[in-house]
Amino acid sequence: MMLNPLPHQLYIAGRWCDARSGRVETVFNPATEAALADVAFGAMQDIDDAVVAAAAIQSEWGMSSGRERGAFLRAIADGVQQQQEQLAQLQTANNGKPLSEALIDVGDVVATFNYYAGLAEQLDDHQDQPVALPGAGFSATLRHEPCGIAALIVPWNFPMVTTAWKVAPALAAGCTVVLKPSEIAPLPELALAAIIAQAGLPAGVFNLVTGDAEAGAALVSHPAVRKVSFTGSTAVGQTVMKTAADDLKRISLELGGKSAALVFADADIELALEIVCGGIFFNAGQMCSATSRLLVERSVAQDFMARLKQRVESIKVGDPMDPATQMGPLSSRRQHQKVQQYIQQGVAAGLKLVTGGTQPPGMAKGYFVAPTIFADVPFDSPLWREEIFGPVLCINTFDSEQEAVAVANQSEYGLVATVLTSDPERASRVSAALEVGLVWVNSPQVIFPQASWGGMKKSSLGRELGPWGLQAFQEIKHVIVAASG
Ligand code: NAD
Repeated sequence: MMLNPLPHQLYIAGRWCDARSGRVETVFNPATEAALADVAFGAMQDIDDAVVAAAAIQSEWGMSSGRERGAFLRAIADGVQQQQEQLAQLQTANNGKPLSEALIDVGDVVATFNYYAGLAEQLDDHQDQPVALPGAGFSATLRHEPCGIAALIVPWNFPMVTTAWKVAPALAAGCTVVLKPSEIAPLPELALAAIIAQAGLPAGVFNLVTGDAEAGAALVSHPAVRKVSFTGSTAVGQTVMKTAADDLKRISLELGGKSAALVFADADIELALEIVCGGIFFNAGQMCSATSRLLVERSVAQDFMARLKQRVESIKVGDPMDPATQMGPLSSRRQHQKVQQYIQQGVAAGLKLVTGGTQPPGMAKGYFVAPTIFADVPFDSPLWREEIFGPVLCINTFDSEQEAVAVANQSEYGLVATVLTSDPERASRVSAALEVGLVWVNSPQVIFPQASWGGMKKSSLGRELGPWGLQAFQEIKHVIVAASG
């Protein structure tokens, strides 16, 4: 109902408004390169308006009960559920992911809001809990309080999902928020904002400023912001961390990855092929968790590679609105150029191109890249070390479990890993040895709101989802009382 027409403005203090400068920028459909909408782009003054609006209601919102906040979150979940088809189509139009994947994203958003509604409802019973102390004469209680105004900055690859992972726990904790979506795919967030607006939150609790790096930087440096939750590239995450240090703002960072999938000779090979393909070609490889480094045990490598090549060449790339399509375009011209540069670099360096590397045939328009595989990629190659963020898989072989783990851990990143083996003891040993935040064993990349999201090294700081996602927006306060008399 409200998605048509979808507002393309900023949402500040409970009202839709233009950017103060009047600036608008066009966003595109990456499958057709056609213009989709002109969206208001905010900057410093708009960010300040949004933060002032959030500040005006922070105290009241922070003192509301968890049950009240939970009710709002459930209303948002219901609103998203009711509009799932339209929201999926909007994501596909703006981001280029196949409709079937966009529907999975919408389901994830609903599950996330419902999960944090449940945690919000439990907060009231956990407030002012007694703390056991060793000595007589004192009693203590523990309070969980909201951090304050939270700046939420997200990228374009899972637009509504990364947003839900921040907005839901922030509101549950009692924080007011200013959301800054990606300049490339802001339409899903505008639709989500319209749903949030209809849920009846007090004005100023949720604010949205669309825009680019300028708006993001203004938000991170705003002195009244107490918490920054950022998802994006490692380079920008490092800048965010440095800026946040000035005010010692609390920060959570979800950044890049170069994750590994390990296929052992004892794995169910058919299952492994399916999982390896999903790990790199889902969302055209634009996943922080893409398992873009594949390690296959040498004794099965030849057979595995032949079957993988066959399977990858049968992936149907095309119009993401077509239900038969398995892989859509990259989300922007910039990303298309970046991925093509990596492929050209690999070819120029004489790397073994197994398949792909070109624009798929018959695609006159759109940012398409064929699913691409390079084999025997040297460990010092940029293609092996750097996050490409596209449908490019690099493969190597190994001879022993120790070697596989050592190579997998040889990365500045440490987000996720996939282990494919039929030996449960090996699965447990390898999972323990991998320097990552999440291991999938014989499993596709399923994510549950109850389990954490995030990793080690340069991939993350903190964790999202689960109770950890809520704690990231809370401060701890103890009250110690001396017994009288
Ligand atoms: P990006 O870092 O360029 O931009 C992310 C967001 O930050 C955008 O909204 C952008 O406008 C904003 N921004 C840019 N410069 C800023 C600045 N100086 N200060 C504040 N905000 C600024 O990333 P991207 O290209 O949009 O997204 C791709 C990256 O996101 C990849 O590296 C990917 O791995 C990462 N990512 C990580 C996760 C995770 O959970 N770890 C999830 C999704 C994407």
